[in-house]
Formats: sequence, C-alpha cells, structure tokens
Amino acid sequence: MAAKEKTLNDLFLETLKDVYYAEKQAVRQLQKAAKAAKSDELKQAFTQHREESQGQVERLDQVFEILGKPARGKTCEAIQGLNAEMAEVLEDFGDSPAADAALIGTAQAVEHYEIARYGTLKTWANQLGMTDAATLLDETLQEEKRTDELLTRIAESAANREAGEDDEDEAEKPAGRGSAASRSAKSGGRREPA
Ligand code: FE
Ligand code: FE
Ligand code: FE
Repeated sequence: MAAKEKTLNDLFLETLKDVYYAEKQAVRQLQKAAKAAKSDELKQAFTQHREESQGQVERLDQVFEILGKPARGKTCEAIQGLNAEMAEVLEDFGDSPAADAALIGTAQAVEHYEIARYGTLKTWANQLGMTDAATLLDETLQEEKRTDELLTRIAESAANREAGEDDEDEAEKPAGRGSAASRSAKSGGRREPA
C-alpha cells in the first residue's frame, strides 16, 4: 500500500521546522552582523533584532506545542545560502566604506525570507483553524517587517549623508553620487531617463 497521503497539516509542520532552523541561524548571524557593523545605529538595530529573534524562537516553540509536536529544526538550504552570501560579502567588503551597506543588503535578504515564510505559515494556520498559532506567527511577521523597514531607513539616511544633505550645490551636480533623489526633488519630481 502506498504511503499515507500528505496533507496541509504535514506541510505546515515541515515548514515550521524549516523556519525554526532558519530563525536559530538568524540569531547567530545577527550577532555576527552586530559585531561587524560600523555605525552605532546599525549595530543597535542588529542587536535589538537579535533579542527579538530569540523571542521569535520561543514563539515557534509555542506553535510546536499547539501542534503537540516536539520542536525540531530541519536544515533550511535557503538560510544556509544567505549566510554563505553574508560571509562572502563580509570578506570582500568588511573593511571597505561599503561595509554597512553590504551588511544591510544581506540582512534584508534574510528578513525577506522570514517574511515569506511567516506570511505563508500564518495563512496556513488560519486555514487549519489554529487561530492561536496564527496570532503568534503574525506577531513575528510584523517584527520582521518592521526590521526590514528599519534597515531601509538606516540605508537611506546613510545615502543622504553621503550625498551631502547640507550642501545644496553638491546635491545639484548631476554626477554627484546618490543625488538622483535630490535632483528629482528640485526639478519637481521629473526624472531624467536612465
Ligand atoms: Fe526572525
Ligand atoms: Fe527554508
Ligand atoms: Fe528577522
């Protein structure tokens, strides 16, 4: 006889194991990222999200409990790939002026993976009638989204500083790095074709 047909319940459990593994990896990566970050603002963002991520692991423990299953991780190839990218980019750019930008870029890739996973799991939890699990997953989903937005804000403020926000003449020079936004603001939002 063929193996028992798999259900959405099975898929939910397997995906939960995937994100459990990924979340634990994320805690370790955030620690490394906090150490490597140059600006205090970015250091603090990584440190704060690392603490948050420990709480997210605990939420996953609770979801396993709701399912009546032991909390277990399953190797997530995606997070391993993203971690490898972070290691590579740190090796290449860790000592450069673009170090923080490189860290933000790789960290945001991790946040987006988490957003995808938690969004999916939340939908499935609702579909399976597990509203408490859905609530827990949504709490984490919102934290991941806020972190992604915070990283974008930090990247943008760094870009503005580099463009020299206190030097209007500099911002108007077409060749000025990162000045596209200020140019289009000054020309009333018109943008030159790329
Ligand atoms: Fe997370
Ligand atoms: Fe995965
Ligand atoms: Fe995260």
